[in-house]
Amino acid sequence: MLGQMMTQPLLISSLIDHAQRYHGQTEIISVETDGTVTETNWSEIAVNARRLASALTRLGLEPQDRVGTLAWNNRRHLEIYYATSGAGYVCHTVNPRLFPEQLTYIINHAQDRVLFFDATFIPLVAALHGALTDVHHFVLMGPRSDEAAAQIPDLKFYDELIETGDAAFEWPELDENTASGLCYTSGTTGHPKGVLYSHRSTVLHSFASNTRDVIGFSAMDVVMPVVPMFHVNAWGSPYACAMSGSRLVLPGPDLHGEALVNLIDTYGVTLAMGVPTIWQGLLAHAAKCGTSLKSLERTVIGGAACPPSMMDIFRNKYGVDTVHAWGMSEMSPLGTANHPLAKHLVLPLDEQHLIRLSQGRPPFGVELKIVDDDGNDLPHDGETQGDLMVRGHWVLDSYFLLQDQDLLQDGWFATGDVATLDADGYMTIRDRSKDIIKSGGEWISSVELENIAVAHPKLATAAVVGVPHPKWDERPLLVAVRAEGENPSEEEVLAFFEGKIAKWQIPDKVVFVDALPLNATGKVLKRNLRSDFKDALAG
Ligand code: AMP
Repeated sequence: MLGQMMTQPLLISSLIDHAQRYHGQTEIISVETDGTVTETNWSEIAVNARRLASALTRLGLEPQDRVGTLAWNNRRHLEIYYATSGAGYVCHTVNPRLFPEQLTYIINHAQDRVLFFDATFIPLVAALHGALTDVHHFVLMGPRSDEAAAQIPDLKFYDELIETGDAAFEWPELDENTASGLCYTSGTTGHPKGVLYSHRSTVLHSFASNTRDVIGFSAMDVVMPVVPMFHVNAWGSPYACAMSGSRLVLPGPDLHGEALVNLIDTYGVTLAMGVPTIWQGLLAHAAKCGTSLKSLERTVIGGAACPPSMMDIFRNKYGVDTVHAWGMSEMSPLGTANHPLAKHLVLPLDEQHLIRLSQGRPPFGVELKIVDDDGNDLPHDGETQGDLMVRGHWVLDSYFLLQDQDLLQDGWFATGDVATLDADGYMTIRDRSKDIIKSGGEWISSVELENIAVAHPKLATAAVVGVPHPKWDERPLLVAVRAEGENPSEEEVLAFFEGKIAKWQIPDKVVFVDALPLNATGKVLKRNLRSDFKDALAG
Protein backbone atom coordinates (compact mmCIF):
# COMPACT_ATOMS: atom_id res chain seq x y z
CA MET A 1 0.00 0.00 0.00
CA LEU A 2 1.34 3.45 -0.92
CA GLY A 3 1.00 6.50 1.25
CA GLN A 4 -1.71 8.87 0.17
CA MET A 5 0.20 12.11 0.15
CA MET A 6 0.80 14.63 -2.60
CA THR A 7 3.92 14.17 -4.66
CA GLN A 8 5.51 17.35 -5.91
CA PRO A 9 8.86 17.45 -7.64
CA LEU A 10 11.62 19.19 -5.66
CA LEU A 11 12.40 22.03 -8.06
CA ILE A 12 14.64 25.08 -7.79
CA SER A 13 11.83 27.20 -9.30
CA SER A 14 9.75 26.42 -6.21
CA LEU A 15 12.42 28.09 -4.05
CA ILE A 16 12.22 31.41 -5.87
CA ASP A 17 8.40 31.16 -6.03
CA HIS A 18 8.35 30.75 -2.26
CA ALA A 19 10.72 33.69 -1.70
CA GLN A 20 8.62 35.90 -3.97
CA ARG A 21 5.31 34.94 -2.37
CA TYR A 22 6.25 35.14 1.29
CA HIS A 23 9.41 37.27 1.40
CA GLY A 24 8.93 39.44 -1.68
CA GLN A 25 9.84 42.72 0.00
CA THR A 26 12.86 41.27 1.81
CA GLU A 27 15.93 43.24 0.75
CA ILE A 28 18.83 42.08 -1.31
CA ILE A 29 21.81 44.40 -1.29
CA SER A 30 24.10 44.01 -4.27
CA VAL A 31 27.51 45.57 -4.69
CA GLU A 32 27.83 45.98 -8.45
CA THR A 33 31.03 45.43 -10.37
CA ASP A 34 31.65 49.20 -10.60
CA GLY A 35 31.35 49.50 -6.82
CA THR A 36 27.87 51.10 -6.72
CA VAL A 37 25.27 49.50 -4.47
CA THR A 38 21.81 48.42 -5.66
CA GLU A 39 18.97 47.54 -3.34
CA THR A 40 16.51 45.02 -4.70
CA ASN A 41 14.33 42.29 -3.17
CA TRP A 42 13.26 38.68 -3.65
CA SER A 43 10.21 39.75 -5.66
CA GLU A 44 12.26 41.72 -8.18
CA ILE A 45 14.80 38.92 -8.41
CA ALA A 46 11.97 36.48 -9.17
CA VAL A 47 10.43 38.73 -11.84
CA ASN A 48 13.78 39.26 -13.54
CA ALA A 49 14.54 35.54 -13.36
CA ARG A 50 11.32 34.81 -15.28
CA ARG A 51 12.09 37.53 -17.81
CA LEU A 52 15.59 36.16 -18.32
CA ALA A 53 14.30 32.59 -18.60
CA SER A 54 11.94 33.66 -21.34
CA ALA A 55 14.67 35.62 -23.14
CA LEU A 56 17.01 32.60 -23.02
CA THR A 57 14.29 30.36 -24.38
CA ARG A 58 13.73 32.81 -27.25
CA LEU A 59 17.44 32.63 -28.03
CA GLY A 60 16.77 29.03 -29.01
CA LEU A 61 18.32 27.13 -26.09
CA GLU A 62 17.41 23.48 -25.79
CA PRO A 63 16.49 21.83 -22.49
CA GLN A 64 19.60 21.02 -20.45
CA ASP A 65 21.85 23.39 -22.39
CA ARG A 66 24.64 24.70 -20.22
CA VAL A 67 24.80 28.41 -19.44
CA GLY A 68 28.16 29.61 -18.13
CA THR A 69 28.80 32.50 -15.77
CA LEU A 70 32.01 34.40 -14.98
CA ALA A 71 30.68 36.62 -12.26
CA TRP A 72 30.95 37.99 -8.73
CA ASN A 73 28.34 37.72 -6.02
CA ASN A 74 25.70 40.17 -7.21
CA ARG A 75 21.98 40.43 -8.02
CA ARG A 76 22.28 39.63 -11.72
CA HIS A 77 24.19 36.45 -10.91
CA LEU A 78 21.41 35.48 -8.50
CA GLU A 79 18.82 36.06 -11.23
CA ILE A 80 20.84 33.88 -13.63
CA TYR A 81 20.92 31.08 -11.02
CA TYR A 82 17.12 30.97 -10.92
CA ALA A 83 16.43 31.77 -14.59
CA THR A 84 18.66 29.00 -15.93
CA SER A 85 17.80 26.15 -13.56
CA GLY A 86 14.15 27.19 -13.35
CA ALA A 87 13.76 27.06 -17.14
CA GLY A 88 15.43 23.64 -17.37
CA TYR A 89 18.92 24.78 -18.38
CA VAL A 90 22.07 24.09 -16.40
CA CYS A 91 23.70 26.93 -14.49
CA HIS A 92 27.43 26.46 -14.92
CA THR A 93 29.35 28.80 -12.63
CA VAL A 94 32.94 29.14 -13.77
CA ASN A 95 35.76 30.22 -11.48
CA PRO A 96 37.28 33.31 -13.15
CA ARG A 97 40.46 33.02 -11.09
CA LEU A 98 41.59 30.01 -13.09
CA PHE A 99 44.23 30.31 -15.79
CA PRO A 100 42.94 31.03 -19.32
CA GLU A 101 43.83 27.53 -20.56
CA GLN A 102 41.81 25.97 -17.75
CA LEU A 103 38.86 28.28 -18.44
CA THR A 104 38.87 27.31 -22.10
CA TYR A 105 39.04 23.65 -21.18
CA ILE A 106 36.17 23.91 -18.71
CA ILE A 107 33.84 26.00 -20.85
CA ASN A 108 34.43 23.76 -23.87
CA HIS A 109 34.14 20.56 -21.88
CA ALA A 110 30.81 21.74 -20.46
CA GLN A 111 29.74 22.83 -23.97
CA ASP A 112 28.35 26.09 -22.63
CA ARG A 113 25.96 27.65 -25.14
CA VAL A 114 25.72 31.04 -23.43
CA LEU A 115 28.34 32.85 -21.39
CA PHE A 116 27.34 35.61 -18.97
CA PHE A 117 30.15 37.73 -17.56
CA ASP A 118 30.74 40.76 -15.38
CA ALA A 119 32.53 43.84 -16.76
CA THR A 120 35.70 42.84 -14.89
CA PHE A 121 36.10 39.95 -17.30
CA ILE A 122 35.67 41.80 -20.62
CA PRO A 123 39.40 41.55 -21.45
CA LEU A 124 39.45 37.89 -20.43
CA VAL A 125 36.41 37.02 -22.56
CA ALA A 126 37.77 39.06 -25.49
CA ALA A 127 40.94 36.98 -25.32
CA LEU A 128 39.16 33.61 -24.96
CA HIS A 129 36.37 34.37 -27.42
CA GLY A 130 37.79 32.54 -30.46
CA ALA A 131 38.70 29.42 -28.46
CA LEU A 132 35.26 28.86 -26.91
CA THR A 133 33.87 26.44 -29.46
CA ASP A 134 30.27 26.04 -28.32
CA VAL A 135 29.36 29.46 -26.95
CA HIS A 136 26.76 31.06 -29.26
CA HIS A 137 25.85 34.04 -27.08
CA PHE A 138 28.18 36.25 -25.06
CA VAL A 139 26.25 38.41 -22.61
CA LEU A 140 27.73 41.28 -20.59
CA MET A 141 26.01 41.52 -17.21
CA GLY A 142 25.00 45.16 -17.36
CA PRO A 143 23.52 47.83 -19.63
CA ARG A 144 24.67 48.37 -23.23
CA SER A 145 28.30 49.42 -23.49
CA ASP A 146 29.70 50.48 -26.86
CA GLU A 147 33.20 50.11 -25.52
CA ALA A 148 32.60 46.45 -24.64
CA ALA A 149 30.75 45.84 -27.92
CA ALA A 150 33.86 47.01 -29.78
CA GLN A 151 35.90 44.27 -28.10
CA ILE A 152 33.60 41.25 -28.40
CA PRO A 153 31.73 40.50 -31.64
CA ASP A 154 27.92 40.10 -31.44
CA LEU A 155 27.93 40.98 -27.77
CA LYS A 156 24.57 40.95 -25.99
CA PHE A 157 23.64 42.95 -22.90
CA TYR A 158 21.92 41.54 -19.84
CA ASP A 159 19.72 44.53 -19.16
CA GLU A 160 18.41 44.51 -22.73
CA LEU A 161 17.70 40.77 -22.55
CA ILE A 162 15.70 41.35 -19.38
CA GLU A 163 13.68 44.10 -21.07
CA THR A 164 12.71 41.80 -23.94
CA GLY A 165 11.80 38.96 -21.54
CA ASP A 166 8.31 38.00 -20.44
CA ALA A 167 7.58 38.43 -16.72
CA ALA A 168 4.70 35.93 -17.05
CA PHE A 169 7.03 33.12 -18.16
CA GLU A 170 5.89 29.87 -16.54
CA TRP A 171 8.43 27.55 -14.98
CA PRO A 172 8.29 24.11 -16.59
CA GLU A 173 7.30 21.11 -14.45
CA LEU A 174 10.58 19.24 -14.61
CA ASP A 175 11.52 15.83 -13.31
CA GLU A 176 13.23 16.58 -10.00
CA ASN A 177 16.27 14.54 -11.07
CA THR A 178 16.90 16.90 -13.98
CA ALA A 179 20.37 18.49 -13.95
CA SER A 180 20.30 22.03 -12.55
CA GLY A 181 23.86 23.20 -11.96
CA LEU A 182 27.44 22.38 -12.81
CA CYS A 183 30.67 23.18 -10.96
CA TYR A 184 34.18 22.06 -11.84
CA THR A 185 36.41 21.13 -8.93
CA SER A 186 39.57 23.13 -8.46
CA GLY A 187 41.47 19.99 -9.46
CA THR A 188 44.90 19.82 -7.90
CA THR A 189 45.78 17.01 -10.28
CA GLY A 190 44.77 16.46 -13.90
CA HIS A 191 41.98 18.35 -15.61
CA PRO A 192 39.20 19.90 -13.54
CA LYS A 193 36.18 17.63 -13.25
CA GLY A 194 32.54 18.65 -13.42
CA VAL A 195 30.01 17.91 -10.69
CA LEU A 196 26.46 17.97 -12.05
CA TYR A 197 23.85 18.82 -9.42
CA SER A 198 20.14 18.06 -9.77
CA HIS A 199 17.06 19.98 -8.66
CA ARG A 200 16.36 17.30 -6.10
CA SER A 201 19.88 17.26 -4.64
CA THR A 202 19.91 21.06 -4.48
CA VAL A 203 16.57 21.36 -2.70
CA LEU A 204 17.43 18.59 -0.23
CA HIS A 205 20.80 20.26 0.42
CA SER A 206 18.92 23.51 1.13
CA PHE A 207 16.61 21.79 3.61
CA ALA A 208 19.62 20.33 5.38
CA SER A 209 21.60 23.56 5.48
CA ASN A 210 18.53 25.25 6.94
CA THR A 211 18.45 22.96 9.95
CA ARG A 212 19.70 24.57 13.13
CA ASP A 213 22.69 22.30 13.58
CA VAL A 214 24.02 23.04 10.11
CA ILE A 215 23.69 26.74 9.19
CA GLY A 216 20.03 27.39 9.94
CA PHE A 217 19.45 30.54 7.89
CA SER A 218 16.44 32.46 9.14
CA ALA A 219 14.09 35.20 7.93
CA MET A 220 15.65 37.25 10.77
CA ASP A 221 19.13 36.96 9.28
CA VAL A 222 21.09 39.33 7.11
CA VAL A 223 23.35 36.90 5.29
CA MET A 224 26.58 37.84 3.56
CA PRO A 225 28.00 35.01 1.47
CA VAL A 226 31.60 36.06 0.98
CA VAL A 227 32.35 32.65 -0.46
CA PRO A 228 31.97 33.20 -4.20
CA MET A 229 28.90 32.13 -6.15
CA PHE A 230 31.42 30.48 -8.51
CA HIS A 231 32.71 28.27 -5.70
CA VAL A 232 30.22 25.47 -5.07
CA ASN A 233 27.31 27.90 -5.40
CA ALA A 234 28.42 30.01 -2.44
CA TRP A 235 27.92 26.84 -0.41
CA GLY A 236 24.31 26.69 -1.55
CA SER A 237 23.32 29.93 0.19
CA PRO A 238 21.48 31.47 -2.80
CA TYR A 239 19.07 28.51 -2.66
CA ALA A 240 18.86 28.04 1.10
CA CYS A 241 18.29 31.77 1.70
CA ALA A 242 15.35 31.82 -0.74
CA MET A 243 13.90 28.92 1.25
CA SER A 244 14.34 30.77 4.55
CA GLY A 245 13.53 34.26 3.23
CA SER A 246 16.76 35.74 4.55
CA ARG A 247 18.01 39.16 3.58
CA LEU A 248 21.16 38.97 1.48
CA VAL A 249 24.20 41.19 1.15
CA LEU A 250 26.08 40.25 -2.02
CA PRO A 251 29.54 41.78 -1.71
CA GLY A 252 30.60 42.05 -5.37
CA PRO A 253 34.25 41.99 -6.38
CA ASP A 254 36.00 43.67 -3.43
CA LEU A 255 36.59 41.09 -0.70
CA HIS A 256 39.22 43.01 1.24
CA GLY A 257 38.83 43.42 4.98
CA GLU A 258 37.86 47.07 4.77
CA ALA A 259 35.05 46.54 2.24
CA LEU A 260 33.64 43.59 4.18
CA VAL A 261 33.73 45.38 7.54
CA ASN A 262 31.90 48.32 5.95
CA LEU A 263 29.20 46.05 4.55
CA ILE A 264 28.73 44.27 7.87
CA ASP A 265 28.43 47.52 9.79
CA THR A 266 26.31 49.37 7.20
CA TYR A 267 23.75 46.65 6.52
CA GLY A 268 23.72 44.89 9.88
CA VAL A 269 25.01 41.55 8.63
CA THR A 270 24.22 38.83 11.19
CA LEU A 271 25.69 35.81 9.42
CA ALA A 272 28.69 35.71 7.09
CA MET A 273 30.26 32.78 5.32
CA GLY A 274 33.73 32.30 3.86
CA VAL A 275 37.15 30.67 3.90
CA PRO A 276 39.70 31.41 6.67
CA THR A 277 41.91 33.64 4.47
CA ILE A 278 39.00 36.03 4.00
CA TRP A 279 38.47 36.35 7.73
CA GLN A 280 42.16 37.01 8.32
CA GLY A 281 41.82 40.18 6.23
CA LEU A 282 38.55 41.09 7.87
CA LEU A 283 39.87 40.65 11.40
CA ALA A 284 43.00 42.64 10.61
CA HIS A 285 40.92 45.56 9.36
CA ALA A 286 38.41 45.28 12.21
CA ALA A 287 41.27 45.57 14.72
CA LYS A 288 42.70 48.55 12.86
CA CYS A 289 39.48 50.55 12.56
CA GLY A 290 38.18 49.61 16.01
CA THR A 291 34.72 48.36 14.98
CA SER A 292 32.93 46.02 17.37
CA LEU A 293 31.17 44.18 14.48
CA LYS A 294 28.04 44.76 16.54
CA SER A 295 25.49 43.08 14.29
CA LEU A 296 27.51 39.96 13.51
CA GLU A 297 26.27 36.88 15.36
CA ARG A 298 27.74 33.96 13.44
CA THR A 299 30.42 33.18 10.91
CA VAL A 300 30.47 29.95 8.99
CA ILE A 301 34.05 29.05 8.17
CA GLY A 302 35.03 26.21 5.87
CA GLY A 303 36.83 25.33 2.68
CA ALA A 304 40.02 24.94 4.69
CA ALA A 305 40.66 24.25 8.36
CA CYS A 306 39.71 27.17 10.59
CA PRO A 307 42.63 28.01 12.91
CA PRO A 308 41.62 27.90 16.59
CA SER A 309 43.17 31.34 17.12
CA MET A 310 40.64 32.76 14.65
CA MET A 311 37.71 31.24 16.52
CA ASP A 312 39.10 32.67 19.77
CA ILE A 313 39.28 36.20 18.36
CA PHE A 314 35.76 36.02 16.97
CA ARG A 315 34.44 34.71 20.28
CA ASN A 316 36.44 36.69 22.80
CA LYS A 317 36.81 40.00 21.04
CA TYR A 318 33.60 40.26 19.02
CA GLY A 319 31.17 37.83 20.69
CA VAL A 320 30.73 36.03 17.36
CA ASP A 321 30.04 32.30 17.23
CA THR A 322 32.07 30.44 14.61
CA VAL A 323 30.52 27.42 12.97
CA HIS A 324 33.30 25.33 11.49
CA ALA A 325 32.02 23.46 8.44
CA TRP A 326 33.50 20.99 6.02
CA GLY A 327 32.47 19.92 2.57
CA MET A 328 33.53 19.72 -1.03
CA SER A 329 32.27 20.42 -4.55
CA GLU A 330 31.35 16.77 -4.87
CA MET A 331 28.99 17.21 -1.88
CA SER A 332 27.10 20.37 -2.96
CA PRO A 333 29.16 21.14 -0.66
CA LEU A 334 27.94 20.67 2.92
CA GLY A 335 29.20 17.54 4.67
CA THR A 336 29.54 18.51 8.33
CA ALA A 337 29.05 21.50 10.63
CA ASN A 338 30.22 21.93 14.18
CA HIS A 339 27.51 22.54 16.78
CA PRO A 340 27.55 21.19 20.33
CA LEU A 341 25.34 18.45 21.76
CA ALA A 342 23.24 18.93 24.88
CA LYS A 343 25.64 16.79 26.91
CA HIS A 344 28.48 19.20 26.17
CA LEU A 345 26.83 22.14 27.88
CA VAL A 346 27.74 20.90 31.36
CA LEU A 347 31.44 20.78 30.49
CA PRO A 348 33.84 23.58 31.50
CA LEU A 349 33.92 26.31 28.83
CA ASP A 350 37.47 25.45 27.77
CA GLU A 351 36.40 21.93 26.96
CA GLN A 352 33.33 23.13 25.09
CA HIS A 353 35.54 25.38 22.99
CA LEU A 354 37.82 22.45 22.21
CA ILE A 355 34.87 20.47 20.88
CA ARG A 356 34.01 23.35 18.53
CA LEU A 357 37.39 23.11 16.79
CA SER A 358 36.69 20.00 14.74
CA GLN A 359 34.89 20.05 11.40
CA GLY A 360 31.70 18.88 13.12
CA ARG A 361 29.13 16.20 12.53
CA PRO A 362 27.05 15.27 9.49
CA PRO A 363 23.39 16.28 9.21
CA PHE A 364 20.74 13.75 8.26
CA GLY A 365 21.33 13.05 4.59
CA VAL A 366 25.09 12.53 4.76
CA GLU A 367 26.90 9.48 6.11
CA LEU A 368 30.60 9.32 6.91
CA LYS A 369 33.05 6.51 7.51
CA ILE A 370 36.81 6.07 7.56
CA VAL A 371 38.71 3.18 5.98
CA ASP A 372 42.26 1.87 5.82
CA ASP A 373 44.33 1.39 2.65
CA ASP A 374 42.50 -1.86 1.89
CA GLY A 375 39.06 -0.32 2.27
CA ASN A 376 38.37 -1.89 5.70
CA ASP A 377 36.19 0.13 8.06
CA LEU A 378 38.09 1.78 10.91
CA PRO A 379 36.72 2.50 14.40
CA HIS A 380 34.97 5.78 15.22
CA ASP A 381 37.03 6.33 18.36
CA GLY A 382 38.25 9.86 17.77
CA GLU A 383 41.83 8.61 17.42
CA THR A 384 42.16 6.21 14.53
CA GLN A 385 42.60 8.08 11.31
CA GLY A 386 41.74 6.88 7.85
CA ASP A 387 40.50 7.83 4.41
CA LEU A 388 37.21 9.65 4.73
CA MET A 389 34.35 8.17 2.68
CA VAL A 390 30.92 9.75 2.21
CA ARG A 391 27.53 8.98 0.74
CA GLY A 392 24.26 10.83 0.77
CA HIS A 393 21.46 12.62 -1.04
CA TRP A 394 23.66 15.46 -2.33
CA VAL A 395 26.88 13.54 -3.02
CA LEU A 396 27.87 12.90 -6.66
CA ASP A 397 27.93 9.43 -8.14
CA SER A 398 29.98 10.23 -11.25
CA TYR A 399 31.71 13.21 -12.84
CA PHE A 400 30.13 15.02 -15.78
CA LEU A 401 30.86 13.44 -19.18
CA LEU A 402 33.66 11.26 -17.86
CA GLN A 403 33.29 7.71 -19.08
CA ASP A 404 34.64 4.47 -17.68
CA GLN A 405 35.03 5.77 -14.22
CA ASP A 406 34.98 3.55 -11.24
CA LEU A 407 34.40 6.38 -8.88
CA LEU A 408 32.46 4.88 -6.00
CA GLN A 409 33.67 2.11 -3.75
CA ASP A 410 30.69 -0.01 -2.67
CA GLY A 411 28.53 3.07 -3.06
CA TRP A 412 30.85 5.39 -1.13
CA PHE A 413 32.81 8.36 -2.48
CA ALA A 414 36.44 8.71 -1.34
CA THR A 415 37.00 12.34 -0.38
CA GLY A 416 40.80 12.35 -0.47
CA ASP A 417 40.73 13.69 3.07
CA VAL A 418 42.24 11.87 6.02
CA ALA A 419 40.14 12.15 9.16
CA THR A 420 39.17 10.81 12.55
CA LEU A 421 35.57 10.24 13.58
CA ASP A 422 34.30 9.94 17.13
CA ALA A 423 31.32 8.02 18.43
CA ASP A 424 29.05 11.09 18.11
CA GLY A 425 30.07 11.61 14.48
CA TYR A 426 32.40 14.57 15.09
CA MET A 427 34.91 14.51 12.28
CA THR A 428 38.36 16.03 12.41
CA ILE A 429 40.26 16.49 9.18
CA ARG A 430 43.84 15.51 9.79
CA ASP A 431 44.98 16.26 6.28
CA ARG A 432 44.42 15.81 2.59
CA SER A 433 45.73 12.30 1.88
CA LYS A 434 48.35 13.84 -0.39
CA ASP A 435 49.53 16.28 2.24
CA ILE A 436 49.93 14.19 5.34
CA ILE A 437 53.52 13.85 6.51
CA LYS A 438 54.95 10.48 7.40
CA SER A 439 58.04 10.68 9.54
CA GLY A 440 59.74 7.43 10.48
CA GLY A 441 56.47 5.54 10.07
CA GLU A 442 54.49 8.02 12.18
CA TRP A 443 51.95 10.44 10.80
CA ILE A 444 52.28 14.17 11.41
CA SER A 445 49.36 16.42 10.61
CA SER A 446 50.41 19.51 8.68
CA VAL A 447 47.11 21.10 9.74
CA GLU A 448 48.05 21.00 13.41
CA LEU A 449 51.44 22.54 12.74
CA GLU A 450 49.90 25.27 10.61
CA ASN A 451 47.36 26.10 13.28
CA ILE A 452 50.17 26.74 15.73
CA ALA A 453 52.28 28.66 13.23
CA VAL A 454 49.51 31.05 12.20
CA ALA A 455 48.84 31.86 15.85
CA HIS A 456 52.40 33.27 16.08
CA PRO A 457 51.95 37.04 16.33
CA LYS A 458 54.90 37.77 14.04
CA LEU A 459 53.72 35.53 11.19
CA ALA A 460 51.12 36.53 8.61
CA THR A 461 50.50 33.07 7.26
CA ALA A 462 52.24 29.70 6.97
CA ALA A 463 52.06 26.27 5.41
CA VAL A 464 53.68 22.98 6.34
CA VAL A 465 54.73 20.34 3.85
CA GLY A 466 56.55 17.04 4.14
CA VAL A 467 59.91 17.05 2.38
CA PRO A 468 62.35 14.19 1.87
CA HIS A 469 64.70 13.54 4.78
CA PRO A 470 67.68 11.18 4.73
CA LYS A 471 66.84 9.54 8.06
CA TRP A 472 63.12 9.88 8.60
CA ASP A 473 61.91 9.60 4.98
CA GLU A 474 59.93 12.79 5.37
CA ARG A 475 60.02 15.65 7.83
CA PRO A 476 57.83 18.74 8.19
CA LEU A 477 59.09 22.00 6.73
CA LEU A 478 57.43 25.26 7.72
CA VAL A 479 57.11 27.82 4.92
CA ALA A 480 56.18 31.12 6.52
CA VAL A 481 55.31 34.66 5.55
CA ARG A 482 56.37 37.28 8.10
CA ALA A 483 53.78 39.75 9.35
CA GLU A 484 54.22 43.30 8.07
CA GLY A 485 56.99 45.12 9.94
CA GLU A 486 58.09 41.99 11.82
CA ASN A 487 61.32 40.05 11.50
CA PRO A 488 61.12 36.85 13.58
CA SER A 489 64.08 34.46 13.44
CA GLU A 490 63.81 30.76 12.65
CA GLU A 491 64.66 29.91 16.30
CA GLU A 492 61.94 32.20 17.59
CA VAL A 493 59.31 30.59 15.38
CA LEU A 494 60.35 27.02 16.22
CA ALA A 495 60.43 27.80 19.95
CA PHE A 496 56.76 28.72 19.65
CA PHE A 497 55.93 25.04 19.01
CA GLU A 498 57.52 23.87 22.30
CA GLY A 499 54.97 22.49 24.68
CA LYS A 500 52.17 22.71 22.11
CA ILE A 501 52.99 19.52 20.28
CA ALA A 502 55.22 16.44 20.66
CA LYS A 503 58.88 17.37 20.20
CA TRP A 504 59.37 15.02 17.24
CA GLN A 505 56.52 16.70 15.39
CA ILE A 506 58.09 20.16 15.48
CA PRO A 507 59.15 21.21 11.97
CA ASP A 508 62.83 20.72 11.18
CA LYS A 509 63.25 24.03 9.48
CA VAL A 510 61.58 27.34 8.65
CA VAL A 511 61.83 28.92 5.23
CA PHE A 512 60.60 32.51 4.96
CA VAL A 513 58.91 33.54 1.72
CA ASP A 514 57.14 36.73 0.56
CA ALA A 515 53.88 34.94 -0.30
CA LEU A 516 52.49 31.42 -0.46
CA PRO A 517 51.48 30.07 -3.88
CA LEU A 518 47.66 29.87 -3.98
CA ASN A 519 45.34 28.11 -6.38
CA ALA A 520 42.31 29.78 -7.90
CA THR A 521 40.18 29.14 -4.84
CA GLY A 522 42.74 30.54 -2.43
CA LYS A 523 44.12 27.24 -1.19
CA VAL A 524 47.84 26.84 -0.73
CA LEU A 525 49.43 24.89 -3.59
CA LYS A 526 51.31 22.45 -1.43
CA ARG A 527 52.64 20.44 -4.35
CA ASN A 528 54.45 23.60 -5.53
CA LEU A 529 55.96 24.02 -2.09
CA ARG A 530 56.92 20.37 -1.95
CA SER A 531 58.73 20.61 -5.25
CA ASP A 532 60.31 24.05 -4.60
CA PHE A 533 61.77 22.92 -1.28
CA LYS A 534 62.38 19.24 -1.96
CA ASP A 535 66.08 19.59 -1.14
CA ALA A 536 65.65 21.76 1.93
CA LEU A 537 66.45 18.91 4.35
CA ALA A 538 68.65 16.86 2.04
CA GLY A 539 71.37 16.87 4.68
P1 AMP B 1 36.49 22.03 -2.73
O1 AMP B 1 35.88 20.93 -3.51
O2 AMP B 1 37.33 22.95 -3.55
O3 AMP B 1 35.47 22.71 -1.90
O4 AMP B 1 37.54 21.41 -1.73
C1 AMP B 1 37.13 20.45 -0.82
C2 AMP B 1 38.28 20.14 0.08
O5 AMP B 1 38.63 21.28 0.87
C3 AMP B 1 37.97 19.07 1.07
O6 AMP B 1 38.10 17.79 0.52
C4 AMP B 1 38.98 19.36 2.15
O7 AMP B 1 40.25 18.83 1.84
C5 AMP B 1 39.08 20.86 2.13
N1 AMP B 1 38.23 21.42 3.18
C6 AMP B 1 36.99 21.92 3.08
N2 AMP B 1 36.54 22.37 4.26
C7 AMP B 1 37.50 22.12 5.16
C8 AMP B 1 37.65 22.32 6.58
N3 AMP B 1 36.71 22.90 7.30
N4 AMP B 1 38.80 21.91 7.14
C9 AMP B 1 39.77 21.33 6.42
N5 AMP B 1 39.70 21.13 5.10
C10 AMP B 1 38.58 21.51 4.47
